[in-house]
This record gives sequence, structure tokens and C-alpha cells, in this order.
Amino acid sequence: MASHGTHSVRNALTVDVEDYFQVAALAPQIPRDTWDSRECRIERNLDRILALFDRFGVSATFFTLGWIAERYPHAVRRIVEAGHELASHGYGHQRVTELDAKAFRADVERARSLLEDLSGQPIRGYRAPSFSIGRSNLWALEILAETGHQYSSSIYPIRHDHYGMHEAPREPHYPLEGGILELPPATLRLRGRNLPAAGGGYFRLLPYAMSRRALRRIEQVDRMPAVFYFHPWEIDPDQPRVPGISAKSRFRHYVNLHRMESRLERLLQDFSWGRMDTVFADHLGPTGMPAARSGESSRIPVT
Ligand SMILES: [Zn+2]
Repeated sequence: MASHGTHSVRNALTVDVEDYFQVAALAPQIPRDTWDSRECRIERNLDRILALFDRFGVSATFFTLGWIAERYPHAVRRIVEAGHELASHGYGHQRVTELDAKAFRADVERARSLLEDLSGQPIRGYRAPSFSIGRSNLWALEILAETGHQYSSSIYPIRHDHYGMHEAPREPHYPLEGGILELPPATLRLRGRNLPAAGGGYFRLLPYAMSRRALRRIEQVDRMPAVFYFHPWEIDPDQPRVPGISAKSRFRHYVNLHRMESRLERLLQDFSWGRMDTVFADHLGPTGMPAARSGESSRIPVT
């Protein structure tokens, strides 16, 4: 992008605020109606994340579940007070692919009003649980726009067994003409394929040097900000173990949890980071002010 030099690309740091018992892959073993009886570790983990970001002077975007905001308002208020962007991860963490339009609207409206009441600020961003917006349910983007959201970070342009729309653009774009802005999680373009480079299980599983190389390449070759994400439970090696989950889910969920915090320190050290709404301010307009958009003038040039 013209406004950034090769060495000064600022990436977007994001946290999906949910606890370990709300992870979609563990859902078969953890019925929703038992959530309230589980040991919730979100306050401890958010404290650690806020301290970490403070240490590195980094601002980030927290895509927060309405369910969490309702039960832990003080923890969520601390996010806002520390100067971070509060955004929505929906209310109940159901994949959008499991909801019809009416249920999806109810979920995102409920989350948005909870988060706005709590923060006293407009909520601009939304991320779908498990990146569950893709080819089959782009209608969800219309509902996000209608309910006042200005951007989504929900379409992962990769092939994956649980999510992804591999043919979607890797850069900021408008999936529907005149609709909401999509800011996709980072991918590395290699030999004609998109590889995930945005965090999650891959960041914990693979050596840190691989993640660093991928992000450097996006910075130097694509010259666009990368969108990176992680979860509070990923820095919590002592979280209660969930019995009865498949070997694959167990591996994905628990691998290298004890290494995560020190890896994040290196990540914060090695790259420049900011909130979604400031990193993408050229597309969104300044914080707190909706960008004026109409028709063709809203199209983002592909760099
Ligand atoms: Zn989530």
C-alpha cells in the first residue's frame, strides 16, 4: 500500500475472547448448557495478555463473545480502558454455518448491544466463530452491515477441514457489491496456494521461525498488513483438560501451550502491531467515524 514503506508495515493484532470450553472443536464433549458450571479462566488470561501488550506498548483488537461480556464486564472494560479496540465475536459462539438468517441476526445484535453498553463506544468489527463465513453463507455479511458493523474478519482464504474459502481474496475487499469490508486473516501465497499465516494452531505447532518468515514475506512481497489472531486459552497451559475428545482435536488444542507466551513476546518484538481500526484506517475512516462510502468509490485498489 502506498502509505507504507517496506520496513514500516504495521500489522493487525487480534484476540478472540472466548474460553477453552467454548472452542468449536471441543463442542461435542462440552454441552452448551454446562458452560456456566465450568471453571472460567478468562479473567486470569486477559490480565496476562493486557500486561504483555502493555510491556510492548502494543494496541490490539479484541473480538469478544457477548457471553463473556455479560458475565465478566470488568474484565472487558479493562480492555477498553487500556486503549484497545473492542469488537464482536458474536454472542454464543455457534458457527454461522449452523445458524439461519434470523438466528444469526439475533446473535450479532445481542453481542453488539452488550459490548456497546459496556464500552460506551460503537462496535465496528465482527469475526465469525471458526471463520465460518464463506461461499455458502455470504448473506451473513448483509446482516452484519444492516446491524451496524463496518468490517468483518471472518473469511479465511485457505483450504481447511473445518473452514475456509480458498478462492477468496487475500487482501481487504468487499465480498458483496457495496457491502461490508472484509479484512481476512493473513495467508502466505506460495506456489499458487494460500497457506495459513495468521496464528491459531499453526503458530503453536510450527517453529516460530516459520511464522516469522511468512509474516516477513507478506510485509516485503505483498506489502500489506497481516491480520494475526490468538485466543486467551492458548497462553494457559494449566487449563482443565477436557476428557473424551478425539486425538486430532486434543493435539490441535493442547500442542505447545506452554510455549505460546514466549512466542508471542518474540512476535511483538519482531513486528510492528496495531488495532484493526487504525491499521486499516485508510479503508475504514478514522476511529469512531464511519468512512463515507458509496458505489464504485468504495472499491479498494488491489496492490
Ligand atoms: Zn472463537
